[in-house]
Amino acid sequence: MALKSAEEYRQSVAKQHPRLFLGGKKVEDVLADPVMQSAVEATAKMYSMAEEPEYAEIMTATSHLTGEKINRNLHISRSVEDLEKRAEMALLTSQKLGTCNYRCVGCDTLNALASVTWEMDQKNGSDYHTRFNNFLTYLQNNDLACSGAVTDAKGDRSKKMSEVDPDMYVHVTEKNADGIIVRGAKLHQSGATVANETVVIPGGFLRPGEEKFAVAFVVENSTPGITYIAQYNAYSAERETCGNIMELGNPEYGQRETCMMIFEDVFIPWERVFMCGETEFTGKLISSFAKVHRMNCGGACKVGFADIVIGASLLASEYSGTEKVPHIREMITEMVRHSEAAHACTIAAAVKGREEPVGSGVFMPDDMFGNVAKITTAYGFWQIMALAGDIAGGLVVTAPSLKDLKNEETRPYIEKYLGAAAPAEKRLRISKVLQNWTAGLHGPGTWHGAGSPQAQKIALYRSANLDEKKKVAKEIAGIND
Ligand SMILES: Cc1cc2nc3c(=O)[nH]c(=O)nc-3n(C[C@H](O)[C@H](O)[C@H](O)COP(=O)(O)OP(=O)(O)OC[C@H]3O[C@@H](n4cnc5c(N)ncnc54)[C@H](O)[C@@H]3O)c2cc1C
Repeated sequence: MALKSAEEYRQSVAKQHPRLFLGGKKVEDVLADPVMQSAVEATAKMYSMAEEPEYAEIMTATSHLTGEKINRNLHISRSVEDLEKRAEMALLTSQKLGTCNYRCVGCDTLNALASVTWEMDQKNGSDYHTRFNNFLTYLQNNDLACSGAVTDAKGDRSKKMSEVDPDMYVHVTEKNADGIIVRGAKLHQSGATVANETVVIPGGFLRPGEEKFAVAFVVENSTPGITYIAQYNAYSAERETCGNIMELGNPEYGQRETCMMIFEDVFIPWERVFMCGETEFTGKLISSFAKVHRMNCGGACKVGFADIVIGASLLASEYSGTEKVPHIREMITEMVRHSEAAHACTIAAAVKGREEPVGSGVFMPDDMFGNVAKITTAYGFWQIMALAGDIAGGLVVTAPSLKDLKNEETRPYIEKYLGAAAPAEKRLRISKVLQNWTAGLHGPGTWHGAGSPQAQKIALYRSANLDEKKKVAKEIAGIND
């Protein structure tokens, strides 16, 4: 069977030796590093959930290539039902992890490539799709964890691609009989440090003359020439120094760990290359990816996060004795409204999904609803966090440490003055969970992850069928022209 256990995944990570830096130091052992461990454990959970009967229907699928049971993160959606389950998986895993599941971007880039390589072959007579399916079979048979690399460094945003150092975008510097050589950097890479493979696609629409940037491939973790520089922040420092992770806001799975991924003349064999120079298909590739990713990461995933924040807010109010106060209930209702509006758009994106292109067998979510899901989340999540801060009170940011509860000198004070309708320990723990969200990294993370909202606004304006809206308004107004 093509399903790996969590332990087998950890063992696969132990065999990888990425050139990885974190907080100014080289990480020699990813499994032993406290920050990296959280990303390993989050990814491992994706493996163990696939083995749990309760989650099997959502977390696994049947491969259309081999007929084997596989992890849904390596599945290509072949029906509306698949799309619905893919979105449910994003929601469920967010509830369980409280952070990124690290296999999501990889899954969505693979789905985009499945669709676009098929179309490229139909139009150009190339054999990318066969090559892609062969490689996907290898990924599925070995249940490899894939991250997805889309966002280029870009440099000065006011300049055209041709005006900046080409290394700001991943590109091909050489082609030979065996493969290609690539250079450049992808930023904000979720979980690439602990993935087995990274799927790389161009970050945007490209024009003729930009062929060297039109490159898509899959690269193995630790391939020579790749350097990973992990994100580092106050939460990383806290995890490194806390001594007991159970005192943290998301003990086992931590923050959304990302990294810079730098490619310095990295060799990619042809069997791993799925686009090389076809600028005319880059728009299709990035928009297919955006369609899938905005439904999953933009919408469904954050609904799972919101469930945690809403649940923690309810507990905070229960522990402080305010849960029956009318305006607290109103705020909880408001949080649910934001979250379920995004949830509804996610479901609509899946239900209104269709085969794209027709004949490919690949199903894509509806573009309009996927974009609305992401943009509703982007705005709604800030509101949900603001309301959580309001409900839970100042303790969310002023609480002492759980260590103070263990210290015999301070324990009586903490127990006495921080106890309310529940003991101080419960209030401290739930405050720490809410701190992780309201004063953590998730605000900008949710805003920019799956693309900054301006990108969704552009997509919405383009796909809103505005002429039809003018037509119905004219009909009502009795305007005949
Ligand atoms: C937590 C997190 C996880 C992520 N995970 C991944 C991942 O796994 N893989 C991946 O590939 N990416 C990932 N991303 C990257 C994400 O897709 C980008 O952050 C997002 O697309 C925005 O790009 P940027 O960060 O370069 O911001 P910028 O592009 O610099 O945008 C900042 C602001 O400037 C505006 N802007 C930028 N350029 C222009 C322009 N030319 N003209 C007008 N306005 C402009 C934007 O609209 C925005 O308001 C992740 C991001 C986050 C925060």
